[in-house]
Amino acid sequence: MTGPLISLADVSLVFDGNVGALNHISLDIAKGETVGLVGESGSGKTTLCRVLVGLAEATAGTVAIEGRPLDALIAADPLAFRRKVQLLLQDAVASLSPRMRIGRLLEEPLAIHGMDLLAGRRRIADLLQRLGLPQGVLDKYPHQVSGGQARRVAILRALMLGPSIIVADEPTAGLDVSVQGDLINLLVELRGDLGLTYLIVSHNLNVIRRIADRTVVMYLGQIVEAAPTTALFSGPAHPYSAALLSTNPAIDPRRRRTRIVLEGEIPSVVSPPPGCRFHTRCPIAAARCRAEEPQLRPLPDGRQVRCHFPLTEPEGAAAFAAAAQ
Ligand code: SF4
Repeated sequence: MTGPLISLADVSLVFDGNVGALNHISLDIAKGETVGLVGESGSGKTTLCRVLVGLAEATAGTVAIEGRPLDALIAADPLAFRRKVQLLLQDAVASLSPRMRIGRLLEEPLAIHGMDLLAGRRRIADLLQRLGLPQGVLDKYPHQVSGGQARRVAILRALMLGPSIIVADEPTAGLDVSVQGDLINLLVELRGDLGLTYLIVSHNLNVIRRIADRTVVMYLGQIVEAAPTTALFSGPAHPYSAALLSTNPAIDPRRRRTRIVLEGEIPSVVSPPPGCRFHTRCPIAAARCRAEEPQLRPLPDGRQVRCHFPLTEPEGAAAFAAAAQ
């Protein structure tokens, strides 16, 4: 395969005829790549994940996996699609039935997908070892294991069917920092060992910085910046990215001096502001921003940004420095 594993081309999702949860999203993800998705609640991250796993349908544009349209893949063989693309939810542990022992919970998908039980049990044993889970966990109920172990069980269940794509929504939420670190290391290891491709949503920028090759920043249904993670974290180009990163001093203590606190809530997607959707909260908004909607465009360093005055260019950098004082 030469093209991207996952390709979203000009994807929009409109509810009730006029409410746009996703607005002209274009994104390619290569096999083996990890893309991190960040942005406040209401930015469209979860909707994008739902579209990718077939739980929501784009109203415009195309979503393709290995060059084949998603709707055609699902229509041709829904179970094969499920095996290929797995969704790991924030509340994955809650989705495990409390009345079933973990061993049975793990064997359940084998029957649904008509897979060989013995081969499945061998895979469970292999995955238990890879995920650092003791054999005894199979005899326990989900509430009898620790939060970190329960999260690993949910990952194991997602891996049971041999997926190639994992879409994970807040995979480390609610875990202690040290357990989070272990889980990130585990996800990185599994990616290499099992040839996985990840799309990971997280509010935790430290998680994204550690795991993602590329980070996509969303605001009000649009991609506002897409960049290699190291480039983004060392110098964001979009004012919204800069504001998000500046609220996390652990990432870069130097940015504490230029901390930008976003005022107010993200506007409603029902009636987004005209011009640049971020102009009502942007510290460097100018008249042009209110009148003219910026397009997502490539910068010379390879990243993409949706801003008239990117911070990587002199005009934007000077305005941002003045606003931060
Ligand atoms: Fe801010 Fe204007 Fe850029 Fe929008 S286009 S992010 S308002 S500077």
